[in-house]
Amino acid sequence: MKKKILIIVSIFSLLAVAGGAGLIYSIGHSSSHLHELIMLHQVEIQREHLLLNIHQVQEDLYSQTTTHPESAEAMKNHASKMETAIKDCFSCHHTQSVTERLSDLQHQIYQFKEALALSTRVGRSRGELEKAHVIGDSLISKVNTMIVLTNQKLVERTESSLQAVNQSKIIVLLLVVAGPLMVALFGFMTLISFAKPIRTLLAATKQLKTGDLDFRVAGLKHEFAELAIAFNDMAIALRERLREITENERRYRLLFESAADAIFILDAEGTAAGKIVSANQAAATMHGYTVEELTNLNIRDIDTPDVAQRVSERIERILLGEWIKVESAHVKKDGTVFPIEISAGMFEFDNHRYILAIDRDITERKRTEETLQRAEHLRTTGELAAGLAHEIKNPLAGIKVTMETLAEEPYLTQEDRSVLFKVVDEIKRIDGLIKGLLNFARPPKPQFMSTNVNAVLDAAAQLALQNRRQAEGVDHTIYLVRGLADDLPEIVADPMQLRQVFMNLLMNAVDAMPERGTIVLKTTFEKTLCAITVIISDTGKGMDAAVLSKLFQPFFTTKTGGTGLGLAISKRLIEEQGGSISIESSVGSGTTFTITIPCNKGKDVARDDGE
Ligand code: ADP
Repeated sequence: MKKKILIIVSIFSLLAVAGGAGLIYSIGHSSSHLHELIMLHQVEIQREHLLLNIHQVQEDLYSQTTTHPESAEAMKNHASKMETAIKDCFSCHHTQSVTERLSDLQHQIYQFKEALALSTRVGRSRGELEKAHVIGDSLISKVNTMIVLTNQKLVERTESSLQAVNQSKIIVLLLVVAGPLMVALFGFMTLISFAKPIRTLLAATKQLKTGDLDFRVAGLKHEFAELAIAFNDMAIALRERLREITENERRYRLLFESAADAIFILDAEGTAAGKIVSANQAAATMHGYTVEELTNLNIRDIDTPDVAQRVSERIERILLGEWIKVESAHVKKDGTVFPIEISAGMFEFDNHRYILAIDRDITERKRTEETLQRAEHLRTTGELAAGLAHEIKNPLAGIKVTMETLAEEPYLTQEDRSVLFKVVDEIKRIDGLIKGLLNFARPPKPQFMSTNVNAVLDAAAQLALQNRRQAEGVDHTIYLVRGLADDLPEIVADPMQLRQVFMNLLMNAVDAMPERGTIVLKTTFEKTLCAITVIISDTGKGMDAAVLSKLFQPFFTTKTGGTGLGLAISKRLIEEQGGSISIESSVGSGTTFTITIPCNKGKDVARDDGE
């Protein structure tokens, strides 16, 4: 296309230059013709002038034969003018042929002048006068001949001059009319040839703008074909860049969305400081909101009131460039408060400052820490208690024996004897407590053996109900519902310790139903986990949150005469066998204990011991 335009412009320029040169030549040509024409007219005038002079002299000659002859002086004067006229002719003519003819004419004029001189002298002859006449006529004839020739030339030159002028006119016409027309035509054609590819490229750009990066431009020629290639390359590069950006975005979104920690992006500036701009799914799940609900909140809305008061101060520290790491507390949508560890710092985007906060739910960590602390506390207090119990046990046994012996003395009154028996009973109770304490502090090592959990549970239930019957003398106040699994495999466990645990739970269930009620026993086997689950539930008085929170603490009891060691020991024994114990209870409805015992723990321990 560029080449084509260059060629066409060059042709136009050459045509314009040629036209201009032609015009200059043509004007020069016409003007030289006109100049010649003017010269010819001047020559013609000179000739006419010469002819007039010759005629004048001829008339002077004729007047010599009349009664009023011209004076000799006047004739001489006219002859001189004639001579001057022929001399003037030389100033216009320079070609050899014309100069020769003029020289011949001048010679003849000299002869005519001499003949005149002779014919005007006194005593002239008639012959001399005629001779002068003849020369004069010959001169007139020659000059006339020359005039005819000159006239012919004049006509020819006039025609050629007109032709030259016409040529100039045509060139001017071409330059003035055809030139602009051709330029306009060329411009129009160029515009048409530009408009189509530009429209194609414009449409392609719009298509690209809609996001169709697979669109390609085709069918363009010349420089536009190069432009189309560049455009297509640009679309490919854009698609590749977009793919990379989308891939990165997807990767970061995956990181953001799949993170187990809650991730918040908070506004850090002005009145919007603390507003949740973005949050991941973990944040929503952790706080019991949807992501949309979270983005309508300020971080203060999910902080506990005392923490919310410190938010502004924390934001200021972060804006000063500090990356903070603190333990704090958040409030779920249902009002539950839970501990979190916050790690937060600032980042800038589009000249606006934001805070990236990563919040970790540390409930489990806190619970583990507390359990460890409690275990440590129990261990030390247990050791202390065990040492103390050990120290008390022997003197107490001595006191008991002494009291029993003393009670046998015959001199004692019945009243004194019953006091001593009460003392012995109390010593027995203290002894039981000490045994329980020692059991809790230093539980005996489990004796693992093949155990039928259903049989152990059943026996414990019979015993617990028998105790109850013996205690109250009735047998219809507690109903026992058995839902024991048939497919329960025998497991390796300590049946005596399991019996102790079941007895503790069953005795508590019985105690919780002083009037009447039902105990439901259920066992299931979890094949995939290889674990047996034992459920003991009652329809007793149940427990409130305060009792539940202290349930497994040693010495916690709500019963008169209770030791508060039953559940603490049960938990410890079950955990020793690799199991767990959990509880669900509500006041007035009853309580359900769920015990899980793994099948293989006993085997593993037995193998370890063997090694
Ligand atoms: P004790 O039975 O000597 O009080 P435990 O450790 O066995 O000690 O029980 C602690 C306390 O737990 C009891 O005093 C009682 O308040 C409560 N408890 C245990 N089991 C039940 C139950 N099934 N129903 C209601 N309360 C219970």
